Order: sequence, then structure tokens, then C-alpha cells
Amino acid sequence: MPKVSPLRGELRVMRRVDLRSDTVTTPTPAMREAMAEAEVGDDVYGEDPTVRRLEEKAARLLGKEAGLYVPSGTMANLIAVMTHARRGSEVILEADSHIYYYETGGMAVCAQVMPHTVKGERGFLTPEMVKAALRPSNLHFPPATLLCLENTHNRAGGTVWPLEQLEAVIDVAHDAGLAVHLDGARIFNAAVHLGLPASRLAERADSVMFCLSKGLAAPVGSVLVGRRDWIAAARRNRKVVGGAMRQAGVIAAAGLVALETMVSRLAEDHANARDLAERLAVVPGVSVDLEWVQTNMVMADVSGLGVAAPDFARRLAGRGVLVNAVDPHRLRFVTHKDVTAEDVREAARVVAEEAAACRV
Ligand SMILES: *Cc1c(COP(=O)(O)O)cnc(C)c1O
Repeated sequence: MPKVSPLRGELRVMRRVDLRSDTVTTPTPAMREAMAEAEVGDDVYGEDPTVRRLEEKAARLLGKEAGLYVPSGTMANLIAVMTHARRGSEVILEADSHIYYYETGGMAVCAQVMPHTVKGERGFLTPEMVKAALRPSNLHFPPATLLCLENTHNRAGGTVWPLEQLEAVIDVAHDAGLAVHLDGARIFNAAVHLGLPASRLAERADSVMFCLSKGLAAPVGSVLVGRRDWIAAARRNRKVVGGAMRQAGVIAAAGLVALETMVSRLAEDHANARDLAERLAVVPGVSVDLEWVQTNMVMADVSGLGVAAPDFARRLAGRGVLVNAVDPHRLRFVTHKDVTAEDVREAARVVAEEAAACRV
């Protein structure tokens, strides 16, 4: 609901611009229609035709043999770790990766594995970093069984792995006998940025998960893809964590519409993020690394304003602009299908005004 705020003596409708995340996107009319009409069955018996179609379509798009529909990205990653990595083994992953940083320690709680974090650069590892993390076989060390990578990288600000580097890192892991799981929550954003099919980015990874409920705007769900026998094992683990659903075609139907209609429009979100980044970059006290605004996220360092990022975020929220502080210095702005080019300009205006107010 638009709020009304008295501004410069006149009544002006305050625009609410929600840039906290692309998870706030709401389903399109076509999704709601498809949901109402979805053919369904009991998916635990493998009898939901809509879920099957979604799993097959997702697998095809990512160039893998089979897919598994799960309620969330967090669960997809958890199932991937449980299915790849032996209990008591070591999983190598980037220190700011979503699996390590934002998934409530699920890998330790449920998969009983040991995270071995490596600090990357903008979320990327190099082959040398992975080699250095691989420890020799020794009674004192847990054996490493899995490497997890993230593309786009969330905490780094939606950054896209250079494809050659991604493949070189995967090769190092494979040569050492590790499996590789790709957290591709936003892999379609990466694909659109590179102008390549998502299957190309997924090619060398053993498994990939992506989210339907972020920029693709479906209300629920993620898909995990991989080899057919591996997905069969993952299906068992989905049951272990309580993620097997019944007439899930009702929600999977929206996922199918998302894959059919929402991928190519991500370019619009990227253009809006770029425009926002350029406007924020010229605000005194705010700094943006424009080179690394590649997809639908903008990280803005507000330490030059002399206020903590969470406090500045609260000031913006009071003006109808919602953003997340990701640490004491940085705000994250995320564009998505429910944010227009005009919304972005309005948000930038509000940031400039509030920044000026901080500096007096
Ligand atoms: C959002 C996200 C997830 C988790 O997805 P949920 O559906 O929120 O559980 C995993 N990895 C990355 C990189 C994400 O951005």
C-alpha cells in the first residue's frame, strides 16, 4: 500500500521500492493461471505429472540427466552435500558462500561434514587456492570429498565466475577425486550476463541447484540436477529431511512458467541494477565498485557517510526504500521484476537525499 507523506508542504504519494532481495517477487498472472489448472498427483509415488515435467525441463536446461524438485534452495544444497559427501569428511567451500554463511550450519547438523573454508576473491577461488586447501592423506586430516562453488556469488554482490576459471577450479577438484556441487541459486543471471546457455556453465559440475523463487519469480521451490543415479540417491535424502511433497504440481506449475517466460527478462533487472549503481556511485560518501556490478545486485559501501549501514538502511526504509545491510559498511540493493526503471531512479534520489542529510 502506498503511504502518503507530507513533503515540501504538499502531499505526495510515497513510492515503496523493495530492493531487499529478488525473493520478494510475486507470481505473474500466467503463473497463477497455470497453478489453478495444474495436473497433479502424489509426487511421493512419482505420480505428479507437473513435477515430473518441471524436473525434466530443469535437467534439460542445465544439461544434466535428471532433476529433483525441492521446497527451497537451502534444502537443495543440504541434500546435495548429504548425497555427495561422506559423514566425517571435509567439504571445501568459499568463506562467504551461502552454504557456509547463511544455511544455519545445516551441513554440520544434518550431513555431519567438516567445512573447510577458503577466502576467495569476489567469491571466486583459483585453482591454486583449491590445491592449497587439499591436504595430503594423513591420519590427522579428514579426507576431502566435495567442493562447493557459487555462481552468481551472493555475498560478493551477484558476481559471475569467469568460465575458464570456474572450469579450471572444477578440474583441480575432480583430479583430486572430489565431487563438485554448484550452488547456482542465480545461475540464470550468470548465464544471461555471459550470453551463454546455463548448461554451458553447469557442464563440468556434478550437481547444480537453482532457485525458481528468486529472480524467476515463482512462489516456491528450487531444482537440484545431476546424473540419474545420483538424483535417485538425492531423492532418498529429500525424504530424510522431510522435503518430499504430495500434489506439488500446484507449485511446480509456476516453476515451469518461470523457466519458460522469466529467464530472458533477467537482462532488464541487470540493466536496472547498472543504472542504479551508476546513480549511487556519484553520491558523495557512497562508493560502488562499478566494474563488479554484473547482474541484479549492487553493493554500496556507505562508510563515507559516517553512519553504520544498518542505521542508514533504517533511514531509507522510513522513506519507502527497502534494502538490506550485509555488514556494518555495506548495503545490498537487488533489482527484480517488481522493480521498474522509475523505481530505481526514485530509490537513487532517496539515497542521495538521505546521504546529504547524514553529511550535514
Ligand atoms: C537464496 C540462496 C540460497 C538458498 O535458497 P532459499 O530458497 O532461500 O533457501 C542458496 N544459495 C544462494 C547463493 C542463494 O542466494
